[in-house]
Formats: sequence, structure tokens, C-alpha cells
Amino acid sequence: MQIADRLNKIPPYLFMELRNKIAKARADGIDVISLAIGDPVDPTPEPIIEELCKQAYDPENHRYPTDEEKGMFAFRKAVADWYAERYKVQLDPKTEVLALIGSKEGCHHFALAIANPGDVFLMTDPGYPAYRASIFIAGGEPYHVPIKNENGYLPKFEDIPSDIAKKAVGMFLNYPNNPTGATATDEFFKELVDFAKSYDIAICYDNPYSEIVFDGEIPRSFLATPGAKDVAVELNSLSKPFNMTGWRIGMAMGNPDLISAISKVKENTDSGIFNPIQFAGIKAIKECQENIGKMLAIYEKRRNIVLDMLRELGWKDYKPYKGTFYLWIPVPEGFTSIEWTTWLFEKASVVVASGSAYGKYGEGYIRISLTVPDKRLLEAVDRIKKAMS
Ligand SMILES: *Cc1c(COP(=O)(O)O)cnc(C)c1O
Repeated sequence: MQIADRLNKIPPYLFMELRNKIAKARADGIDVISLAIGDPVDPTPEPIIEELCKQAYDPENHRYPTDEEKGMFAFRKAVADWYAERYKVQLDPKTEVLALIGSKEGCHHFALAIANPGDVFLMTDPGYPAYRASIFIAGGEPYHVPIKNENGYLPKFEDIPSDIAKKAVGMFLNYPNNPTGATATDEFFKELVDFAKSYDIAICYDNPYSEIVFDGEIPRSFLATPGAKDVAVELNSLSKPFNMTGWRIGMAMGNPDLISAISKVKENTDSGIFNPIQFAGIKAIKECQENIGKMLAIYEKRRNIVLDMLRELGWKDYKPYKGTFYLWIPVPEGFTSIEWTTWLFEKASVVVASGSAYGKYGEGYIRISLTVPDKRLLEAVDRIKKAMS
């Protein structure tokens, strides 16, 4: 039986490998604590669950989700209202908003919507591994744009060779950034619009951490930048702000031509999102915004637990970036990322994500996720301190 060549280009999904490793150790009776995966353990707010249950009883909602009025349109309208109020971005819910089965689906459909075989896509290194998979599945070729600590982990557009930029049809970016935690600036957004316009590159601005920011950083949408809507779709998601990763609901917004192309891929792939989940999504957006502040306080407390540990263990000058619920931490002298990840696993039964899994410029770092219960995080910190002393 033939399996497509393009699938062989995709390295095994980072977390699948981790999961296997953890499962094996747990089967051996070891109490493993995973700080590797960004998946909130805290529950989805109750009104959202209640709305799902209520809507699930309505037989109207048992049919294919339609793109009209009640279901899909009401969700798109709620998204447009949220973006107008929160980010001062005006969107036409009819043509500039599309509901997604999570923003990851949006990345995938974006690539399918614009790629011809062999087309070049830019993505950052380090970067979210799913972009690479989406590019390969769409038949494209990724070009890795290095991002470095000394530049605040923002790409330097002048360093991208112009023959590559000319060939590129799309670019994936995400700030607040997974894995580094870096945030973007208005000035950077202007450069991004100029770059996209001068090389005719469609931007997929993946923004699922727009609300997860600390230390006075302001939540941002790329679409608030003049001209951004000419070149970009922005993806967002209810996964992270409302502890809804398992529900699979997100949205694409922005350039109407890109939205309609992505919508065409989507219509011919799935038939939309179960209406009760969309109603629950409306509930989240309209009535559960206070959950975000609540979660930020929880993440901040956990963030400080790890920062205190780092200071105690000798990371004297370490300063975290201001976004996401990840900490991107340089490994101790004498270790590679994988070596230190392995060391922590063997000495402390703590799993962290190796920076090198996000690209070669991720070497020298590990990523810790703050989406574990406080008690487990404290236990992990305790074990790491003991192992390192
Ligand atoms: C978590 C994450 C996503 C996936 O979000 P879903 O809406 O759950 O699909 C997309 N992009 C990045 C960078 C993420 O970290």
C-alpha cells in the first residue's frame, strides 16, 4: 500500500514522542510530571458547558451546521464584536470572519488555500511545528527564518534573501510567541505589512495567545495595523483563554479573499462546527471574559514559582518575555537542549520540551509550560532543586 511521500517529510509530532516516553515511565511506576505540553488543566467555565448542554437538546442543532443567521452567523458576529471592542479592529462578519475547528485547522487550510506544488512558505525558527506539517501537506516547501534572543525573537526581514522572499507565497507567524514567549510591537507589525506588500506574501498571523500577556504588556491584534487586512488572515482560538482546547473551536479573520479561499477548502473538507459548540463559543466570548483575568492570575503565580526557582539555582540575569504560558529557558553550561531534557527526566522525572524540537535556533533552550496544577508544579520545582543541588 502506498503512503504519500509528503507525509514522510513530516517529522513525528513532538508531543507524540513525549507521550510515549511518559507512558513508558508511568507504566514502570514512576511518578512523571510533565511540564511539556501547553494544555490548560483548569476546567472550562460552567456557563459555557451549560450552554452546550442546553443547545444539544434542540433538534434544530442536530442537522448540518448552516452558514446562516443562527448558528454560524451568530458566532461570526460575536467574534467581530469582540475584535471591535477589544482590539479596535472592524470586521464584516459576513466576509471577514470564519469559524474554525481550532486555529490549528486554520493554519492547515491557509496552506492548502494558497499553495501550488513546490511553493515556498516562510516560518520562524524556532517555530510552532504544526506550521511545517501544514506546509508539507499542502505540497509547499518551508523556509526557516531565524529568530534570535538579541532581536527580541522577531524576524529581521532584511536578512531574508530576496530571491527567497520573491518566491514565497505565504508566511506563518505567532506573537505572543510559542515557544519563546516573545511579544510583537506596533513597529514590527508595520514592517510586516510592508514586507508582505513588497513581495506579495500572504500572512497567516496565528494569535491564540493574544490575551495571555504579563507585566503590563497589552493584548494585540495584527489586524489593527493599517494595511494588515490587505495581506493577512489572523487566527485566534477559544482554546487558551477559556480552557477549551478539547472543544475545538477557533476563528480566521481578515482579508476577504483569503477568508473565502480558506472557506472553500473547509466546505469541501468538513461541513462546519456542531452548532451547540458555536453557541457555547458565543457564550465564552460574550459572558466569560472574566475567566481570562482569573487564569492570568493563576499563570502569573506559577510563573513566579518557576522564576524564583531559576534565580535560586543561578539563572541570575534571566528575564522572561511577556507573553504566553510558557517559559523559554537557557540550558545550563555544558548541556545541549536534548541532554538537559534527558537529565531532568532521569534525575527528577520531570518532562520539559527541548528547544531544539522547535528548530535548530531553539538549541540551547528548553520550554516549560505553566498549564499544570500548582501542587504538581511545586513538586516539580522541588525535585529539580534537589537534583541540581
Ligand atoms: C495551541 C496553539 C494552536 C492551536 O490552537 P487550537 O485553536 O486549539 O487549534 C495554534 N497555534 C499555536 C502557536 C499554538 O500554540
